[in-house]
Amino acid sequence: MKLVLDWDGTCTVRDSLVAVVHDLGDPSIYDASLQETFATYGEALAAEVHTLRCTSEEAAAWAVEHVELRAGFHELVERFDTVIASSGLQQLILPVLAREGVQVEVRSNDAIPSPDGWQVVFRDEGVCSTCSDKCKRRSLPEGDPLVFVGDGWSDRCASLAADRVFARTGLAAYLDEEGTPYEPYETFFDVAAALT
Ligand SMILES: [Mg+2]
Ligand SMILES: [Zn+2]
Repeated sequence: MKLVLDWDGTCTVRDSLVAVVHDLGDPSIYDASLQETFATYGEALAAEVHTLRCTSEEAAAWAVEHVELRAGFHELVERFDTVIASSGLQQLILPVLAREGVQVEVRSNDAIPSPDGWQVVFRDEGVCSTCSDKCKRRSLPEGDPLVFVGDGWSDRCASLAADRVFARTGLAAYLDEEGTPYEPYETFFDVAAALT
């Protein structure tokens, strides 16, 4: 079994990219729904990231101070073979894992920090052949079964490639619409218990 965890809103209690844009970027990007303003997830992500003007050290310090992990995170990643697959940024994820003393493989996007606005660097070239977006389905590891845990827009396509899905909030609503089965969760203790 391979366990794949989304990061923002899944491993983290709050979406850390949204929160860092509120604190260090330009939250007016959220005045209208990103899903209505931008045609693709990739464009929305690039626009969010581009509102950041800080240094990577400032972003790391912000993440270490503010990012809270979901209850049961340590138990889950210690017990199961785990990959974090995130559309978020290395600069916001790795400092938090270092703070927690956790070693886990991270497959995420990256960014070039700049005082003119950070530029996202997508982990995977081009677009996903399934959804035609800058989607992380292409970052999924091999696994049989492949278990996916997520919460949001960026998890939609990847979750459909998994054998077993745990979903909450927006991802759960999407899978309800699609008629795709999933298991709800609130904490990672719930996920660990279901997988045991
Ligand atoms: Mg998420
Ligand atoms: Zn896709």
